[in-house]
Formats: sequence, C-alpha cells, structure tokens
Amino acid sequence: MLKASTADVIIIGGGIVGASIAWHLTSAGCRNIVILERESQPGTGSTGKSMGGVRAQFSLPADIRMSLYSIPIFREFDALVGHPSGYRPQGYLFVATQPRHLEFLRTNYARQTAEGVRDVRLISRNEVVAMVPQLRSDDVLGGSFCGSDGFVDPHSVLTGFLKRALEQGAQLVREAPVLAIDLDTTGVIGVRTSRGSFSSRTVVNAAGPWASAVAAMAGVELPVEPLRRTLVPTEPFDRIARGVPMTVDMATGFHFRPEGLGFLMAWNDPAETPGFKLGVDRGFVERILALAADRVPVFAEAEVNPSRAWAGFYEVTPDHHPILGRVAHVPGFFLANGFSGHGVMHSPATGKMLADLILEGSTKLIDVRQFDFARFAEGRMVQETMTL
Ligand SMILES: Cc1cc2nc3c(=O)[nH]c(=O)nc-3n(C[C@H](O)[C@H](O)[C@H](O)COP(=O)(O)OP(=O)(O)OC[C@H]3O[C@@H](n4cnc5c(N)ncnc54)[C@H](O)[C@@H]3O)c2cc1C
Repeated sequence: MLKASTADVIIIGGGIVGASIAWHLTSAGCRNIVILERESQPGTGSTGKSMGGVRAQFSLPADIRMSLYSIPIFREFDALVGHPSGYRPQGYLFVATQPRHLEFLRTNYARQTAEGVRDVRLISRNEVVAMVPQLRSDDVLGGSFCGSDGFVDPHSVLTGFLKRALEQGAQLVREAPVLAIDLDTTGVIGVRTSRGSFSSRTVVNAAGPWASAVAAMAGVELPVEPLRRTLVPTEPFDRIARGVPMTVDMATGFHFRPEGLGFLMAWNDPAETPGFKLGVDRGFVERILALAADRVPVFAEAEVNPSRAWAGFYEVTPDHHPILGRVAHVPGFFLANGFSGHGVMHSPATGKMLADLILEGSTKLIDVRQFDFARFAEGRMVQETMTL
C-alpha cells in the first residue's frame, strides 16, 4: 500500500547513494521523500558488488574533503543511524616501485596534509615490508599509508541509511522502475513508474550505472557509462595476516585486502570496454592471479575458485569524477551520478551535498561547481590521478 504519491523529493535508485541522500534529507527535516527502486531488493546494483574501500588518499582537494566528511560518518555510523557500517580502519598502503611513484605520492601527501588528513605518512621501504612482509620487495622504494583509510561493508551502510531514513518518514517503493520523467515549462513535475505516477518538483537521479537512461527521460544527455569491474576472492588463506591494509601495487594497479577468512583481489583491466557485461572472464582471473603471485608470491599457493568471482559496474564519467547537483535547463532535476569507483566511500558526502543543494540551494562542503553537469560542455573537466 503506497503512503503518498506526492513527495517533496523523489529519489530514483535505492543504492547507497540514494539511501544516503534520503537519510541526509530526512535528518534535515525534509521527511516526505519517495525512493523508487526498480528491483525487489535495494542494493543489487553497484553497491552490492563493491569492494568497500574508503580512503582520504586522493590528489584533488575536493575528493579529499569528501572523504574527510565521509570517514567519520562511517566511524560513528552505529551511533548516528543505529546500524553497523563494518568500518575497519586498516589503512590503504600505496606501494611505490618507481621514482615517479614516490614523486607522485610526495605531491599528494602535501595536498592531503594541507587539507587536514592527519594520519597519512610517507613510509620507507623497510616500513612497507614490515606492514606486508609477504610482498616481493626487491624493487620497492617506499610508499604512502593512511591509517584511517580502510574498508566498510557497503550493504550494511546502505541498510543503515535506508532503515533510518524510512524511520524518519521516507517511503521506499520496490519493483517500481521509473519509465518516464514528466516535465512542464517550469521543470520537473513528477515521474511515471510501473506502479503508478508520483508527483514532485524535485527529482534526484541516483540510478548508478543506469543513470544515463534515467537522465535521458528528462532530455538530459549524461556522460555516464557502465564499466565492468571484477573481484576475485581467495578461499580461506592464512599465509598473510588478517590485519594488513588495502595494499596497492602502483606498478600494475593490482590491489587486495582481507575479506572473511581469505582475501579479495582487484585489478583495473585497461583493455575493458564500456557496456552492461556482467560475466566473469576466465582470462581476467588468470591475469589477476599472475599479477598477485608476482607481487605477493605466497598468493601462488592460495586456492581460488573462479566461480566465486563476481563482476559489477563502475559508473564512469569522462574525467572519472561524479556529476553532482542541478541541471540548469531542467529545473528540479538533480544528479548524483558517475562516481567512477568511489561511490561507496563518498556516499555520505554526496548525501550531505545533495541535501544541502535541494534544501538550501548551496553547499559548503566543497565548491560543487567543479563536479557540475555543465563542466563537460564548458570544457572544465577535472583531473584526479589517484584512481583505482
Ligand atoms: C567491483 C566493484 C568494486 C568497487 N569498489 C569500490 C570501492 O572499493 N570503494 C568505493 O567507494 N566504491 C567502489 N565501487 C563503486 C561503488 O560500488 C559505486 O560507485 C556505488 O555503489 C554507486 O552507488 P549508487 O547508489 O549510485 O548505484 P547503485 O548501487 O547501482 O544503485 C542504483 C540503483 O538504481 C536502481 N535503478 C536503476 N534504474 C532505475 C529506474 N529506472 N527506476 C528505478 N530504479 C532504478 C538500480 O536497480 C539500483 O538499485 C566498486 C564498484 C564495483 C562494481
């Protein structure tokens, strides 16, 4: 039974981003919110496939600030929303094997500390080896480590945001794919779904990898593409300590972190092409295992069952940064899309900024203009080089 078909804000998409926006809005007193989710369960999109990494080690001040808002929310999540986030501050360790990596880490360290990241430090080769003794270290020159970086449980964060938003008045409508967005000469007036129509002057696109299709319903051409990302778990494996950080081999981009009784391995295949492809490619699994064994030789002994690997979608923009805020020519239509691999870690900041923009017209968290939709047409693309 639907509570109301007229809302102050309609959110399209019940992933971690839509849920965070709903929690921030309802926490700010805007309670008549409708979240429309196409599937029967929230979290089956990118959120449920994520590696859950959170970090403040970025190069762009806006990314760093978004993390500095988000990480304390994950830390205090239980007190704030009454549900665990699974935040484990085991750190991110970037391992440098070339002088240019060290130079890059030094530049970014200066930016991070200038923005107020307190527990990031540049570390020596010996410290890298002490942190992860199983690394092949003949070519390791040093690294960068931030102790408050780490990982969360994305599904648990989504559940917490959503549960508390619903308690605070939001309504979640499941199995309600948005099929059309209605506009008049003043802007957005509502949406149509397979479960009926909902009217509102404010509609937020939080549709993850499907954001372009939703934007097209409002006549907006959104440059967000789905890009397959595959994660490969090992079976239980005790040759590496469970307390190791998310460890990133800067030479190849191979990275891993503990997960359950084993480890979760990831790698950004540069040959991957955009598209809604979800199959796990055996060749990919072989390549990642070779990268793993090269950097961490004991991984050659880990058991891996390829049928337990899974793939999901990064929602990628041309400059690998999100598209946030209003669309000038479609009043009432807001975007929270294109996180390009950072949508879990930046979900709290995104929720805060969208709530600020919707309720007050501006946000103090960052200069959100740098992530606006107009930047593509106006040639203001963003550069962030610490991407994974
Ligand atoms: C393998 C992998 C690893 C990742 N690792 C990390 C990481 O370590 N750290 C990190 O921060 N991020 C990571 N990400 C990225 C992160 O998971 C995403 O950026 C984030 O989950 C995006 O959340 P979302 O809510 O925007 O999208 P989603 O979770 O995809 O939610 C969008 C929702 O919209 C719904 N929807 C779509 N169209 C419609 C419609 N027409 N009507 C109604 N509902 C609709 C979908 O069903 C879906 O539930 C990873 C992603 C993948 C795939």
